[in-house]
Amino acid sequence: MNHCLPDDTICAIATPAGVGSIGVVRVSGSLSLPIVSQVFRGTKPLNAFESHTVHHGEIFDPSTNHLIDEALVLVMKGPSSYTGEDVVEIQSHGNPALLQGILSVLISCGARLASPGEFTRRAFLAGKMDLAQAEAVMELINAQSHSAQTMALNQLRGKLSEKIDTVKEAVLSLLSQIEASIDFTEQGIDLCSQEEIVARIDKPYQFICDLLVRYEEGKQIREGTTIVIIGRPNVGKSSILNKLLGEDRAIVTPIPGTTRDTLEEGLNLQGHLVKIVDTAGIRDATDAIEQEGVRRGSAALKKADIALFILDASESIHKEDIALGDTISGKKKMIVLNKIDLPLGMDIEAIHKKFPKDPIVSLSAITGEGFDDLKNQIVALIKQDDHGGPPLRYDAKEPPMVALLRHKNALERAEHGMKRALQSAKENAPVEFLAADLREALDALGEIVGETTTDEMLDQIFNQFCIGK
Ligand code: GDP
Repeated sequence: MNHCLPDDTICAIATPAGVGSIGVVRVSGSLSLPIVSQVFRGTKPLNAFESHTVHHGEIFDPSTNHLIDEALVLVMKGPSSYTGEDVVEIQSHGNPALLQGILSVLISCGARLASPGEFTRRAFLAGKMDLAQAEAVMELINAQSHSAQTMALNQLRGKLSEKIDTVKEAVLSLLSQIEASIDFTEQGIDLCSQEEIVARIDKPYQFICDLLVRYEEGKQIREGTTIVIIGRPNVGKSSILNKLLGEDRAIVTPIPGTTRDTLEEGLNLQGHLVKIVDTAGIRDATDAIEQEGVRRGSAALKKADIALFILDASESIHKEDIALGDTISGKKKMIVLNKIDLPLGMDIEAIHKKFPKDPIVSLSAITGEGFDDLKNQIVALIKQDDHGGPPLRYDAKEPPMVALLRHKNALERAEHGMKRALQSAKENAPVEFLAADLREALDALGEIVGETTTDEMLDQIFNQFCIGK
């Protein structure tokens, strides 16, 4: 699909909002150098600098001649720049007001404020990267664990795109042959044997299935594993969460029912992103606010990948513990016996009998004893398969390649097309049907790398980016 190439020059602050030691303003477009030249005083004119060089100078307001800041200016001439256009980056002191000042003078000299993701969109339009790689830029910026970073970096370096291209080439070569045989039947272009056609559809079809099968794993790496903490009031849920996080976020009080809503906190456990949800005790609540908290807690429990079921080991099992235990019977879970610093009041044997298959960890949220074991057991549970699909291969050499819903949806459409084509080929159906199915698969694959993507789809994708990227 042909998209219009931009002809104006954009600028944006590329560093996060707030105070920092340096801040970066980015400019890209055919007029980058003339525009920045109007606000930069260096040892020589900006145009005279070689590409990919850094220069010290002053940034000033040309309308008043007032100095704004001292800065370093990086000149990167197109086409070998991020966007493929002439790019200038101004590194000034990281004061938001200074950065805004620089942005304002650039705009008054003819640049336009960039929209979210516009630099990367330009890189895509200039053919510097395909759409899957452009999306990986945002993935890499947002990745919250080592595994998510590796996955995003692989995507940025084109691993998924290469795979998609290989599949596309195989489908395209067969499709071209089939279409030629439709167009030139009289000239006698022979199609290969039915057996060969089946084999030539089956191979790329399997590739697509292989990519799709690890989506859940990819999604979990990207979004993290959600762990819900449940237990009756006062067993120590908030204390355990706080200890795990290493900081006091949830309010801890000895009055039952104070955790009225659910709290969600992110944690990086041995390279795995974990999102922990502390629920209001899931039980019969009396007042309206508490009922709402309980409702949210039940919803969080349903959505969570893993439940940490907390029991107070200093007391005997309550009826309420048993009722809560029943609500998580089908769930991947761990039994956590808290308050082991106090004299034991619980029949541990009975707990083992009640939960024979689940890991049981004993700890104290007060002394911290048992928390290393808890973390190790959580990671072991994360790695354990419960998707009913192939085992999660967190330790596999190659991380999954598909983690974005957009890619999954497109791959599923490609898979459907290929499956139908396979069926048509096996049934010796008219080649026109075969061609239509292969074409559909090809379009879906093209969407992933941005070959068959509409402007609206690009808007949707790049609007999720931050400004300045
Ligand atoms: P929640 O209602 O389940 O969230 O329980 P809290 O975390 O608010 O804890 C309830 C009470 O138990 C507080 O007084 C905590 O200080 C206390 N507590 C929590 N964990 C432990 C523990 O491991 N040992 C002891 N001795 N007290 C604990």
